[in-house]
Amino acid sequence: MSVTSDRIALHGHFASELADLSVPWQAEGTPDPQLLVLNDRLAADLGLDPDWLRTPDGIGLLTGTALPDGATPVAQAYAGHQFGGYSPRLGDGRALLLGEVVDADGRLRDLHLKGSGRTPFARGGDGLAAVGPMLREYVVSEAMHALGIPTTRSLAVVATGRRVRRDELLPGAVLTRVASSHLRVGSFQYAAATGDRALLTRLADHAIARHHPQAAGAARPHLALFDAVVAAQASLVAAWMSVGFVHGVMNTDNMTISGETIDYGPCAFLDAFDPATVYSSIDHDGRYSYGNQPVVAEWNLARLAEALLPLIDDDQDRAVELAVESLGAFRPQYSAAWSAAMRTKLGLPAGLDDAVATTLVDELLVLAERSQVDHTSLYRALAASARGDADAARGLFLDLRDVDDWSARWLATGPDPDAMDRVNPVHVPRNHLVEEALDAAVAGDLGPFERLVDVVTSPYETRPGLERYAAPAPDDFGRYRTFCGT
Ligand code: AMP
Ligand code: MG
Repeated sequence: MSVTSDRIALHGHFASELADLSVPWQAEGTPDPQLLVLNDRLAADLGLDPDWLRTPDGIGLLTGTALPDGATPVAQAYAGHQFGGYSPRLGDGRALLLGEVVDADGRLRDLHLKGSGRTPFARGGDGLAAVGPMLREYVVSEAMHALGIPTTRSLAVVATGRRVRRDELLPGAVLTRVASSHLRVGSFQYAAATGDRALLTRLADHAIARHHPQAAGAARPHLALFDAVVAAQASLVAAWMSVGFVHGVMNTDNMTISGETIDYGPCAFLDAFDPATVYSSIDHDGRYSYGNQPVVAEWNLARLAEALLPLIDDDQDRAVELAVESLGAFRPQYSAAWSAAMRTKLGLPAGLDDAVATTLVDELLVLAERSQVDHTSLYRALAASARGDADAARGLFLDLRDVDDWSARWLATGPDPDAMDRVNPVHVPRNHLVEEALDAAVAGDLGPFERLVDVVTSPYETRPGLERYAAPAPDDFGRYRTFCGT
């Protein structure tokens, strides 16, 4: 099922193939829509004309208020474990899947809205989103993409002209999000809980076709699907860890089957390196702390395995055995991805003995934690040290004797500073810069936001004159707190 206008061909694969997992729904009107930011490059990749998207009709598409005739927007149903507790019915409470478009590479990409009004899944929520948090998702997801980390993308943020009540009244917005799909672990939990095996099969086959087509040819395609998600998540979380990304709300409804990062709510990048770092105001036990992310990913994958059991083998004991074996691949795959990432971050030569590399990495992280070293600055400073600027990294540590001893052993391996600079960003969306840009944007000045997007989407580039974008937060920024349910 698809609809075509002279501007867009919008498909309804999910809506038609998995109608049982969605409710047809329409976006709420927008009293005074104003386009705040548009991702021209992404628009072009999707075959959409950026100039047209700036017109009232284009903004109508971006907000879901003027869709091509016959379009079938839906709110998707899913379940999820939130902070470990199971909710059988979450779903898109304030979001809509408009449909899929085919991108320049021939891949299906979801066009999706966040903040488009209440749906039948809204429960107590108002279905809305505020400008600040939607711009936040825009800048952080685009920074992640520029860092080479799989992620949903942001096409646009449109201010709606409607006020949203949070602690105070805030300007409302709709984010237009693009993803290779919005299938989540929670989608499988929801389908499994219906007890309808045919539905679960259809969902799994849809996921295989869209994300992991090689699984179709396996002896056990649905087990191979699980293996592929395990591999994608192991690699994704290792990439998060290497750049110091803290997702903040790794509920099973916020973990994709594609292996893309999704739902930029309370996320943040590490300043000082500390595995116990938690930014979310509601994460009192540190369940989703920086250091806990690999363990939580594995836990979420176990929930996916449970949902898939009926498809893995008719004999459920055998299915459990096979799923446990597949899940067992997560730790070695994660460790291999993390070790490889850290070897590259430290510019270690390919032939270096694994045990030596592991010791260097482990020791550095202990020293960095002890001295609360800024995670992003550290690796660029080390590259400068490798080029002969002995004090570049040394100055970041409190415990000089230990770091000198470590440095001598690291330098003796012959680290390659150019290789380091290719993988270690100068610029990540630092928390204080994000806050500053969002405050200005909400007050009507989009300049700082546009500059920040520009800087973080060229993350490896040193910019003369923009040194403050590479510097850690000033001391008076204090402890950073982020919020869910924005
Ligand atoms: P999240 O933690 O943002 O992934 O959201 C968890 C669940 O709450 C999802 O089912 C969302 O659709 C829903 N939700 C979050 N905020 C709102 C809101 N303002 N109105 C309705 N539903 C919401
Ligand atoms: Mg979510």
